[in-house]
Amino acid sequence: MFILIDMEKCDYTTLLRSLQFPERWLNEGDVKVLCRDKDGTEDTRAVSSFVSEVEKLFQETKTFPVILVATCNSKNGCASAVFPTLARLFLHVIHMQSPDELQRTAMLQWISQKCGVSVNADLSHVAAQTSGFIYADLAALVSHAVRNNFKRMKVTSCDEQNSPDVALSNADFEEALDIMHAAYSEAIDAPKIPKVSWNDVGGLSDLKEEIMQTIMLPLQHPGLLATGLKRSGILLFGPPGTGKTLLAKAVATECSLNFLSVKGPELLNMYVGQSEENVREVFSRARAASPCIIFFDELDSLAPNRGKTGDSGGVMDRVVSQLLAEMDGLQETSHLFVIGATNRPDLIDPALLRPGRFDKLLYVGISEDKESQLSIMVALTRRFQLRSDVNLKDVVSLLPDKVTGADLYSVCSHAWAIALRTEIHNLMHGGSSMPSAVEVGVEDFREAIINLTPSISEEDLAYFQKIRDKL
Ligand code: ADP
Repeated sequence: MFILIDMEKCDYTTLLRSLQFPERWLNEGDVKVLCRDKDGTEDTRAVSSFVSEVEKLFQETKTFPVILVATCNSKNGCASAVFPTLARLFLHVIHMQSPDELQRTAMLQWISQKCGVSVNADLSHVAAQTSGFIYADLAALVSHAVRNNFKRMKVTSCDEQNSPDVALSNADFEEALDIMHAAYSEAIDAPKIPKVSWNDVGGLSDLKEEIMQTIMLPLQHPGLLATGLKRSGILLFGPPGTGKTLLAKAVATECSLNFLSVKGPELLNMYVGQSEENVREVFSRARAASPCIIFFDELDSLAPNRGKTGDSGGVMDRVVSQLLAEMDGLQETSHLFVIGATNRPDLIDPALLRPGRFDKLLYVGISEDKESQLSIMVALTRRFQLRSDVNLKDVVSLLPDKVTGADLYSVCSHAWAIALRTEIHNLMHGGSSMPSAVEVGVEDFREAIINLTPSISEEDLAYFQKIRDKL
């Protein structure tokens, strides 16, 4: 019997070795590099001699059959990565996906057992925070946890043999997870649960309610999808800086969902077929990290009206078609959500706005009343040390009527910088020591507001309101 194992991101060589197959199993490495010349093209002589060698081996060992196991690390399945002549040798193909939560729990148990450490931590809770991790990542996680444990116990030697009574606690895993998540997201820009609490968002509570309902329904009742519930993507539109990204992140945090943010232009590539491949890659990364929200910022640049853009070769048309295909594929899963954001919904291909795709359009507008401006100011100054003379209501009364959340953010950060400058100035002119936190006063806010130019003009606003009424 011949088996070809399709490795998707998994260190299955280690996995197979650890399963302790009998020695008569032959284990090939990554089969897709086999019989290629230095340019990566098929070396026909090497292929034919490999095939004949395998057939000869099989003939010679009829009474004592050899089993050939090969692994292949390919995102699109081994069929596209391995030459057909070689692929024909393998009768069975096993596609191995990234492990789910239950499998990760079992792997964590197994790895800790193998390392000879006992565990006092809740491993299923740890596994829930490792979406997208593969076997090798989990092994690294356990090593980090062991190291943290040693550090905690002030043991200098890391030799497991000499310290068999290591017991990993929740705290060891928490620290290890922080290290792994930081490394993981830097390495492959992986999705992670954002840290934007609802207190960081001022106003917008109606929109939050609407988005939460759309997302929570399939999560809480996955069976409804089978009975015909149509999934919908959400499109947030409105002027820039009104909190669309912030809103999507807060919803992801609230529902403990991973968040994969993609800016439309990032996916476009000059090479033929690469832009569509990038779209596919985004969805497959999100699938590996599910439950996950994919957030497409500047969607209009990624999915303009088909047939109207004048790019040679119709790259944008193909990207839109790929996006449509991926979004249609989401209908079966209850754990992937798509949120788009744009300033120009009128430029987006209408096929993307049909039911089951981005069919929920929500307008995120600017703050026109003092109440909503106040709630944004409260959110933005949450971590500020305010002087006793500051009353945010009075500060808000100094603001122009029509400002965006980003304008208010600029007022607050500017006021903080002015306060810092004053502290440094006082220190250099004979003041006592530097205070532990910068205190922002009403004068600082006043100066920052004088320098503020609202980012949205009356004409821009009229334009956005026209689009909102049209949609
Ligand atoms: P958009 O995605 O609509 O262009 P962002 O969400 O990126 O805007 O907002 C830019 C910044 O403005 C945010 O990082 C945040 O600091 C601030 N901001 C915008 N809206 C709000 C809001 N409603 N509450 C608090 N901060 C806000």
